[in-house]
Amino acid sequence: MTEFGFIETIRATFASIPDNAFEGIGDDCAILPTDGDEALVFTSDALCEGVHFLRESSTPFDIGAKSATVNLSDIAAMGARPIATLLSLALPQEAVGEWAEEFIRGYHSVSSRYGVKLVGGDTTGSKTGVFVSVTAIGRVKRANIKRRSSAKPGDTILVGGVLGESAIGLSDILSGNPHSAAAQLHRNPVAQIEEGEWLGTQECVHAMMDISDGLSSDLQHILTASHVGAIIDTEKIPAANADVRNAVCGGEDYKLLFTVATDCVTDLIATFERRFGYTPYPIGTITADSDCHIEWRENGRRVSHTDWQGFTHF
Ligand code: ADP
Ligand code: MG
Repeated sequence: MTEFGFIETIRATFASIPDNAFEGIGDDCAILPTDGDEALVFTSDALCEGVHFLRESSTPFDIGAKSATVNLSDIAAMGARPIATLLSLALPQEAVGEWAEEFIRGYHSVSSRYGVKLVGGDTTGSKTGVFVSVTAIGRVKRANIKRRSSAKPGDTILVGGVLGESAIGLSDILSGNPHSAAAQLHRNPVAQIEEGEWLGTQECVHAMMDISDGLSSDLQHILTASHVGAIIDTEKIPAANADVRNAVCGGEDYKLLFTVATDCVTDLIATFERRFGYTPYPIGTITADSDCHIEWRENGRRVSHTDWQGFTHF
């Protein structure tokens, strides 16, 4: 069973229970409309020792910071502003004390940067390594919510920044070069939190998500949810070390992936640049393809990349 097959089983099992006004499963966050013109959004991401981090090659500060970052990234990916988190920690005996306190300092560093309060959680012991589970809550004007399902044929596809750096950082760590800039970015990534909330306010932005599993698999989620296809111009992908395959397949970059009505792309990029000091990258176009395929092109020529798959856990 694949990771996404299992999630589908979960969704089907719960289909007969009323949704109590919630929208989910299927996007970066579940959505709960509140009174007035707002909604709350909810997401939960777990980090598991040996899978998401190695205690011997990451500091507890970085693991704490990353635990907050990856969750706030999913809030921003909806166009929302993160307001609070809940933090559950399972700690083996040797991580109780100094390790855990340093973890909290890292978690606080990211939370305080974006004004996000820690409002609850759980603390327990573990016999098999550190386990972290975070639930993040965001707030958004209903009209500003950006779903995966809103991409339209003709939209330009953009990514918020360079892709593949985190995967390069991981291989640096595994090959004994843990002090490279990419390795540091892998251990403590920077997500596009303020950018996501701002993109939410832009009407011409249609679909949005964050790239956590790699461009090829995350773009596929937008295509499937929106019943559309895509053409990607591979030479336009902002690939770290000019390694396009790594940029497309590597995970954990936490850059935003979004689609924009083509007639306002130039203006949007210019306004984004004035606000944030750098530009997002247009990399392709949404097509009217109900098979939801990604067509890869290299300088206008169609190329086949059946092995370009993103990351899955099972
Ligand atoms: P993301 O990468 O944005 O965190 P995922 O790919 O992990 O999203 O999950 C896809 C969708 O499935 C999301 O809507 C998520 O909330 C949902 N999901 C994942 N695992 C579970 C689970 N164990 N129970 C319920 N929903 C889940
Ligand atoms: Mg996400």
